[in-house]
Amino acid sequence: ANDLSEVIEADRAHMWHHLSQHKQYETVDPRIIVEGKGMRVWDAAGKEHLDAVSGGVWTVNVGYGRESIANAVRDQLIKMNYFAHSAGSIPASRFSKRLIEKMPGLSRVYYSNSGSEANEKVFKMVRQISHRHHGGKKGKILFRERDYHGTTITALATSGQPQRAEQYGPLTPGFVMVPHCLEYRKQWDVENYGERAADAIEEVILREGPDTIGALCLEPVTAGGGVIVPPAGYWERVQEICRKYDILLHIDEVVCGLGRTGTWFGYQNFGVKPDFVTMAKGVASGYAAISCTVTTEAVFDMFKDDPSDPMSYFRDISTFGGCTAGPVAALENMRIIEDEGLLENTLKMGARVVENLSALQEKHAVIGDVRGKGLFCGAELVADRATKEPMDEKRVAAVVADVMAQGVIIGMTNRSLPGFNNTLCLSPALIATPDDIDQITDAIDRALTRVFG
Ligand code: PMP
Repeated sequence: ANDLSEVIEADRAHMWHHLSQHKQYETVDPRIIVEGKGMRVWDAAGKEHLDAVSGGVWTVNVGYGRESIANAVRDQLIKMNYFAHSAGSIPASRFSKRLIEKMPGLSRVYYSNSGSEANEKVFKMVRQISHRHHGGKKGKILFRERDYHGTTITALATSGQPQRAEQYGPLTPGFVMVPHCLEYRKQWDVENYGERAADAIEEVILREGPDTIGALCLEPVTAGGGVIVPPAGYWERVQEICRKYDILLHIDEVVCGLGRTGTWFGYQNFGVKPDFVTMAKGVASGYAAISCTVTTEAVFDMFKDDPSDPMSYFRDISTFGGCTAGPVAALENMRIIEDEGLLENTLKMGARVVENLSALQEKHAVIGDVRGKGLFCGAELVADRATKEPMDEKRVAAVVADVMAQGVIIGMTNRSLPGFNNTLCLSPALIATPDDIDQITDAIDRALTRVFG
């Protein structure tokens, strides 16, 4: 291996990581990933890791070292790298068309660079619609407990973890939280939990006043907040409620978008029809920075009659939304998913993860619940199965560390409610093979035995 001591020193001296990492790096070298191929990455010490989290945060959907994406980006950058989004480009037009083919009912794509920014675009449009069409009175936006929508100050206002306000308050006003829908941790003792959890949204709407609410923003499957797959009946009822009160439905597909759940988009599992869809991470599998805000012709029409307005949709341009690297990488990423049958593979491998974790649940009493949709799976660890008392976060972290020492990278929830960072997260690339899946769950099996006996 190359001598990377200089890189490690520079990391220690100048990088700003999570503060918990700086603490760790007092005793171990900073983790620096230098190479990737397929499902595997190599660190500065030359150690091989099987990546079960697609680049840490559900991003590298088609795996590492894809020369066809790198070549497409290279060729495009030499030909035409950038012109502001006010002008079109060949890759942006082509990708928009290909994307919309996968999203019946939607028709317009706005490009920016991150999931946070794509979400902010929706929040801004909702406020603009409120000003143009509702006298500025229908601008509140609902978000859900345990969901997450990004790093900017307003995106943080929509994140369903109370500690956000303590860290970053005062937050942007006009965002109102609705309850989460995790059936394993029931808040209502009823048969039809999905409908009941959706009715809880209606209760908030009635409390706030339906005429004050412009949009409802939800993750299709809550990611960092606990791998929460909404129960049957939830989405149907959510859709009804939005229609009843003229509330626009925004689905944040930043994690699920482009294949993660075995369909192009997470919402397509549930038959729901959103007014806005945002996506980022998996759009170009981490080969270029790109995010998209997609909406309907009906929303577009609400803006188009007034192009001279300085608040106009058309003038709101994100500089790097015009970079061609994103859409050209996204086009090739989409081609790979189609040509290699990765949606089908995701369904098969996702079922295998759940099957393997369920088998581990028979053996290890600490696994309270196993959840998943496609290659987006979680195992919630509890101190006591009967009371469902969450496992102490430090012991969950010890499991992750043990798995890591075995050369497999898994994740754990880090954005749940305080006291609920107790879910192991598995989201391998969509190219995973049965052997990869077994290697991941075998490592978890050994770690659970070592940590809990
Ligand atoms: N929405 C969801 C559901 C996310 O998980 C994330 C990032 N983890 C974001 C939005 C923000 O995306 P970005 O980091 O690209 O701004």
